[in-house]
Amino acid sequence: MNWSISKAKLFSKCQRRWFYSEIMASKYGKDIHRNEAYILKQLGSIHSWRGKLVDYVIERLLVPKFNEKMLPPFNEIESLVSELMEKQFKFAKEKKYRDPKLTKKEAGDNYCALREIEWADELDSESLNIIKQQVLVSLKNLLKSKLMKKFLAPDTILVAQKSLNFKIKGVNIISRPDLILYFKDKPPLIIDWKAYYHGTENARMQLGVYSIALAECVATDPYLKPMDDPTEIRLIEYQLLKNFQREYKLSMSDVDEIKQYINDSLQKMLKLSEHNNYHEFDIKQFEKTITPECKYCNFKTLCRNEKIKYQVNLTKFLTD
Ligand code: SF4
Repeated sequence: MNWSISKAKLFSKCQRRWFYSEIMASKYGKDIHRNEAYILKQLGSIHSWRGKLVDYVIERLLVPKFNEKMLPPFNEIESLVSELMEKQFKFAKEKKYRDPKLTKKEAGDNYCALREIEWADELDSESLNIIKQQVLVSLKNLLKSKLMKKFLAPDTILVAQKSLNFKIKGVNIISRPDLILYFKDKPPLIIDWKAYYHGTENARMQLGVYSIALAECVATDPYLKPMDDPTEIRLIEYQLLKNFQREYKLSMSDVDEIKQYINDSLQKMLKLSEHNNYHEFDIKQFEKTITPECKYCNFKTLCRNEKIKYQVNLTKFLTD
């Protein structure tokens, strides 16, 4: 089983949704409902697409340039955004994510699965244009932010989207910070981007989990400095659309509280997923939410379909 901060949030909002996403979804095999859960798991809103586009441009274009202590011309950024949006929108519109023979790896940069298209079969050009403008505003804000001084400093090494994995009680704790800045003579700095206008939740818990993960993965520092104290790691949440940043510094009691949160959350997940075999699960054990979450839930079609026979071992019938 894998644990991450996003899986923990999903679990606490709706256990049933976590079941669809983490236990039922499977691309391979002959159970059509498990295949469908896998496809539905891939869907994201156009707002989450906006965030992914921003992440892509920062990781693939900006970070390599910042590491060379250079800035790309803005028209290069604009061209990359236009090209990406065009090919990904085409992929999503043709619903190629539903092609059973095509893997995400093969689809590469083209891969995109949009909820709005899956549900309504349309997305007007005005909505697309707004998303594009917001992506460009986010990137413009970053380029004029006070973070740039750190990015372009001569002794800084930037690493984007690095996987930081460690284990607690045999469970893989998975983290992928948007950006880690390593300094020659100082502890690292972790930055998390947010590309939305209306979110109110702060990133303290998320960044706290990342700092514990970074301290656990000691071998990641390109300057080979020992780093085993998460309270020394500096943390910044940067709101790309608002050009606003919030800094966090953890105390030892924050670290203990976050470790306790991880432990409590994964214990609850382990309790519900103690069966290793999908065919032994009882869906009724996974509580449904009572919040408005259902309206935007990727799995609502599966959830409402009471005819689905969960946990039917089709291989049994195939070999009969
Ligand atoms: S439709 Fe609602 S109850 Fe069902 S999985 Fe989604 S969020 Fe949970």
